[in-house]
Amino acid sequence: MATKTDTKEKVNLKDLTKTELQEFCDDLGLQSFRSDQIFQWLYQKGVHSFEEMTNLSKDLRNQLAEVAKVPTIEHVRQQESKDGTIKFLFKLQGEEEHKVESVLIPDFYDDGAANRLTVCVSSQVGCVFGCSFCATGKMGFFRSLTHGEIVDQVQYIDELCEKKFGKGITNIVYMGMGEPLHNYSAIVNSASIITDELSINLSPKRITVSTVGLTKQIKQLADERQPFNLAISLHAANDEKRDEIMPINNSMNLEKLEEAVKYYYGKLHRPITYEYLLFDEFNDTPEDARQLADIVQWVPSKVNIIMYNDVAGVALKGAREDRLDAFMQELVKRDITATVRRSRGDDIDAGCGQLAIKDGQEKGK
Ligand code: SF4
Repeated sequence: MATKTDTKEKVNLKDLTKTELQEFCDDLGLQSFRSDQIFQWLYQKGVHSFEEMTNLSKDLRNQLAEVAKVPTIEHVRQQESKDGTIKFLFKLQGEEEHKVESVLIPDFYDDGAANRLTVCVSSQVGCVFGCSFCATGKMGFFRSLTHGEIVDQVQYIDELCEKKFGKGITNIVYMGMGEPLHNYSAIVNSASIITDELSINLSPKRITVSTVGLTKQIKQLADERQPFNLAISLHAANDEKRDEIMPINNSMNLEKLEEAVKYYYGKLHRPITYEYLLFDEFNDTPEDARQLADIVQWVPSKVNIIMYNDVAGVALKGAREDRLDAFMQELVKRDITATVRRSRGDDIDAGCGQLAIKDGQEKGK
């Protein structure tokens, strides 16, 4: 385990879970409360050096600096949409200088005060799954993020929200670059840190993890009784169309997904959310809606119908309003709980399916 202190390489404390941090402190012979103090400095106060941990003695700070480090991802720039959505570009640790994007989607009350402040975080640089409509999928795959790099995105944006809106973030969705359940332990560990009372202390009910349908990991979430919400990116309601736009469906088809979803619900009794991007004249017919209704009824669930933002180089286009209306009517007839989501931040390429590092120089780096 990375907690050995007798190697020359400094231990990255942000690569450790809370339990591993405790073990690291035990190895150093520190009093037991020191681990919680360090955890709080890292994840509640968001410091970037041992020097700033002022309730630790100078000697202890020096001792820690000799054997450990607390690096952070670097904010490169941000862009604000006319609808208030903000897209962030972060540079990760490591010589490769990989970059990822995160998005803040604020909702406001009528008086202009901030209501929900939702952060969409990235979990991988690129993605292996290659969904045909997704800009991230077109980048290829470079590496998965560590749980510390995921928490860093949340922490940076949480601090910005405190300054800009007078309150911290309220919700997190793991729906940025990458397939979250393909980086399972980092997702679970980051969510565990974010929900810790010595950290941001966000309720797990306000965290949603999305997946294209990795059935083994869906069952693992159920077996481990992970407390956050599950969303499944469906985007087509029969195998023929899903095969065409989501290669994952070739190995994990709707029958296997149904089995995993029923397993998950059987253990946790927690409703599932399906995400369904509506593409013009591809998956937006009344028959598609009827097939979608059948899927949504596998277990108690709801569905978000998302208006797709066009992505350069993708033939699929967003559905037209008249076809959306007919589609929704079919769902309503079948008593399906469905919400239409207008994807936000499309003018800055921050909408669903649009995240990718585009600048030639930065591509994949
Ligand atoms: Fe990967 Fe998700 Fe994009 Fe598919 S939609 S390519 S799983 S990031």
